[in-house]
Amino acid sequence: MQGFRREVREWLAANLDPALRGAGGPGREHEAFPERLAWCRRLAAAGWTCLAWPPGHGGRGVPLAAQVAFHEEYARADAPARVDHIGETLVGPTLIAFGTPEQRRRFLPRIAAVEELWCQGYSEPGAGSDLAAVSTRARLDGDEWVLDGQKIWTSLAHVADWCFVLARTGPPPEGGSRHTGLSYLLVPMRQPGVTVRPIRQLTGDCEFNEVFFDGARTARDMVVGEVGQGWRVAMGTLAFERGASTIGQQIGFRRELDGVIALARETGAARDPAIRERIARAWVGLSALRSHTLRTIDGAPSSQDASVVKLLWSGWHRALGELAMDVLGADGTLARGGPDELDRWQRLFLFSRADTIYGGSDEIQRNIIATRVLGLPR
Ligand SMILES: Cc1cc2nc3c(=O)[nH]c(=O)nc-3n(C[C@H](O)[C@H](O)[C@H](O)COP(=O)(O)OP(=O)(O)OC[C@H]3O[C@@H](n4cnc5c(N)ncnc54)[C@H](O)[C@@H]3O)c2cc1C
Repeated sequence: MQGFRREVREWLAANLDPALRGAGGPGREHEAFPERLAWCRRLAAAGWTCLAWPPGHGGRGVPLAAQVAFHEEYARADAPARVDHIGETLVGPTLIAFGTPEQRRRFLPRIAAVEELWCQGYSEPGAGSDLAAVSTRARLDGDEWVLDGQKIWTSLAHVADWCFVLARTGPPPEGGSRHTGLSYLLVPMRQPGVTVRPIRQLTGDCEFNEVFFDGARTARDMVVGEVGQGWRVAMGTLAFERGASTIGQQIGFRRELDGVIALARETGAARDPAIRERIARAWVGLSALRSHTLRTIDGAPSSQDASVVKLLWSGWHRALGELAMDVLGADGTLARGGPDELDRWQRLFLFSRADTIYGGSDEIQRNIIATRVLGLPR
């Protein structure tokens, strides 16, 4: 393992352009996009993408401990935020688990080489937490599916080549589950029937978008799993959201916490006992989060574990943003260069408001923990 870790560290030291350090990520997706894309392709060419995928599907099948080591070293090197993560961590594993051999042959090599970028078309204006309420429709017209409807909050849709879309292809059975009749479709983004409109966020950034399908088309064989049984596939994708990369995210959190501690020393806030206590709580919380993640990351993904980890990290990170603002005091309210010229701490504070929403809101995670872990009634 030490050999693998050293290899990652040395490769990053030799290849990472210092100008790209820390670029991109939540709330800063606009930063250096072409350079980050080129960087991801370079990673791919050197065999550093899709480490977790089985070798037969174009991955390296490295053990979990090595994946963790990669993500730790990547975060330690402050390497830029990846632009290919939706392909590698969501749709790729979904195709490996549920796709046809043709779908795997068509898509996996291009995901691994970062030739095609993906986005996730689940949420709609009337269907977020209640995902089974999606009303985007797809109907067969000869050898093609034709899609009509709207998705929203679609991260990176403006740069994506493909979108995986949860759409209704048939009515739910009489008196049956709303989860039946949904299908999981792979839809090319660059076509006349697809319109992408950016949504401006609190940070001034436009990381996510509205996506309109007006007669958008995709081939008949672009359904993953059975027609009408897409719910199972869609939930399978969500289970892949949790993985070794969570550990890398926590290294990033550690760096942010270290920054807040340094800031508290600089501003004198560290002398305030209430701030000191919150810093100590943050340190303990992050250590507990890391231990919990390492304990649960191994083995088959379970939605319960994923819910606990998501609830823990999102609340922790949001509280860190609030702590950073209190450490800055009145200075934290000033955007010196203009309304969107935010410093690192202001951006953290504002963007971390989204952490308790995306990937399933805190309330939804609590519902899952209550019913599936604690066995409480609905
Ligand atoms: C930064 C960011 C990126 C995103 N990227 C994507 C993406 O790439 N693709 C995509 O498809 N979606 C994406 N989303 C959307 C995200 O998945 C949804 O915002 C989320 O699932 C919540 O849905 P909603 O916004 O419709 O809120 P709603 O579901 O309308 O919920 C509103 C409020 O009601 C609460 N609530 C809802 N139902 C219940 C219940 N049963 N019990 C208790 N409380 C409840 C919620 O917790 C929330 O506080 C993104 C969101 C953000 C913020």
